[in-house]
This record gives sequence, C-alpha cells and structure tokens, in this order.
Amino acid sequence: MLKSIRAALAMSVITLSAFGASSAFAAPLKVVASFTIIADFAKNVGGDRVNVTTIVGPDGDTHVYEPSPADAVAMAGADVVLVNGLHFEGFLQRLIDASATKATISVLTKGVTPISFKPEFAEADTAEGADTGGGKTATDPHAFQSIANAKIYVKNVADAFCATDKEGCDSYKANAASYTQKLDALESDVQTAIQSIPENKRVVITSHDAFGYFEQAYGLTFLAPEGVSTESEPSAADVAKLVSQVKQDKAAAIFIENITNPRLIEQIASETGIKVGGTLYSDALSQPDGPAATYIDMMHNNIAQIKGAILGS
Ligand SMILES: [Zn+2]
Repeated sequence: MLKSIRAALAMSVITLSAFGASSAFAAPLKVVASFTIIADFAKNVGGDRVNVTTIVGPDGDTHVYEPSPADAVAMAGADVVLVNGLHFEGFLQRLIDASATKATISVLTKGVTPISFKPEFAEADTAEGADTGGGKTATDPHAFQSIANAKIYVKNVADAFCATDKEGCDSYKANAASYTQKLDALESDVQTAIQSIPENKRVVITSHDAFGYFEQAYGLTFLAPEGVSTESEPSAADVAKLVSQVKQDKAAAIFIENITNPRLIEQIASETGIKVGGTLYSDALSQPDGPAATYIDMMHNNIAQIKGAILGS
C-alpha cells in the first residue's frame, strides 16, 4: 500500500517535471536588472517574453544604493539576474547572499576591455573591492558609456536569455540584432556631434568620473572632482585645482549629473563664473517622461547638452 503511494507520487513528480520542462517559460521570464540602463537593454532584447524588475531606479546612484527587502524578494524569484560587474554595484554580493537566489548572475561587461582609472583630481578610488593595486588606480566600471561596449552588453543579454529560455532564443537574437542596428546609428550620431566641436574646446567638467569610456571612444575629455565612484567626497585641494584649471580656460563647459547632488558643480561654477551647461545622464536613465528614458535617448540628450553648452545653440 505504502509502496504504491510512493510509486504514484514518484510518477506524478516525473509527470509534473516533464510538463514543467516543456512549458516552463510560457509565462514571461522573470528578469532582475541591477539598474535602469541594463533594464532598457533587457526590454529591447526580451520584448514580450520577459518581465523586467529594476533594482536601482531612474536617477538612482548605483554606487551607494542600499537594497530593500523587496529587492531581495525579486532576486529570490528571478530566472535571470543581469548586472554590470566591475564593482559598479557595491551592494550586489550582500543582496545575492540575503536573497539566496538560485538564478544565474550574468555579468554584462564580460568581453569588454576594462579601462583603468588614473585619478587626475580625486585621490585613488577606494570603492569596495576595487582594483586599487597600491591605491592609485581602480577599474572604471562605466563601460556602458561607450556604444561599442553597449553592443557587447546586448549580446550578453541575449546569451543569458537563450541559456534560460531556449524556445525564445531566435526571438532574442533577432531583437538583439535589430537593436544593435539602432546602436550603430547612434554611434555615428555621437561621432558626428563630437567632430563638430573644435578640438581645443573638447574639455568639460562633471561631478564624478563616469565618462572615461566615452572619452576613450569619442575623444572628448572629462574632468571631475570625484573619482569613479560617488562614495567619497572630493578634497578641498581637488576642487581648488579644478577651479584653477577652469580659470585658465581649460574647460569649455560644466555639467551637473542626474545622479549626484549639484552643490559641488554649482560651487565650481560660481567660483569661476562658468555657466552650468545642463544635466548629463551618467549612471542612470531619467523617469519615463524625462529626456533620457532610454539608453538611446540618454546618449542623444548628453551630446545635445554638450554641443549646446560649448557651441552655444
Ligand atoms: Zn558612476
């Protein structure tokens, strides 16, 4: 009697798991993205087959974000977790541990050539886990600011979705290919915009060093009083050095960032008489009704702000 119940249970488990395997992702794939830019890539690649939850929302600062219990619940129930890596998400390991998630954590900077940050103003970044190698350099995590890198992120998103939902793989690959074509067009727009600025004016100031990959890819120099993380305040000496450079006419424009307090930039602007050129979106997208609701809109916004401030539109 007992034996036959066990046999029946075993049969039903086998039946259920066979059923489960064939229709596991008839419901949308549950995707957790660490921040808004990755969430945008995930929606473009996943379309209707995915349901994306974003941990650090619009205008949020991922460097210093403190996860909530709701984030742990989302992580615990996720099929796929997409992160930037390169120590961008300081909270990540704590959240993985707290949620005990079984999902594969896909690091989207896999395949990107990381650049080292050599502080020009700020002291060496001491971000948690940063590659400080003697305390003077760190790995710059903002790889998404190069559109060539964004294409690598997109390919990695498609690979992560394909690995979890094989039936949707053709659709993910097709979506990734068509979105990559849009990124090609965007890249050409950015190059054209930067080339329209005279070379001696291609220097701007922002709050923190979020634009190293943009600088390397497109040839516009960014100076910033804070390092590659927003964790530490810049020293008075760093700010004074920047003020003196601006006074020597070495920067053409100065910008606030959507994720950081504008106070420091406003202070530099008032001490130098240089006008604040607008807002650049560095580490997060805007609210849906803002000017940088998608990655492509963010890049268009940033180059328009930069061109406008330098050339005076
Ligand atoms: Zn940053």
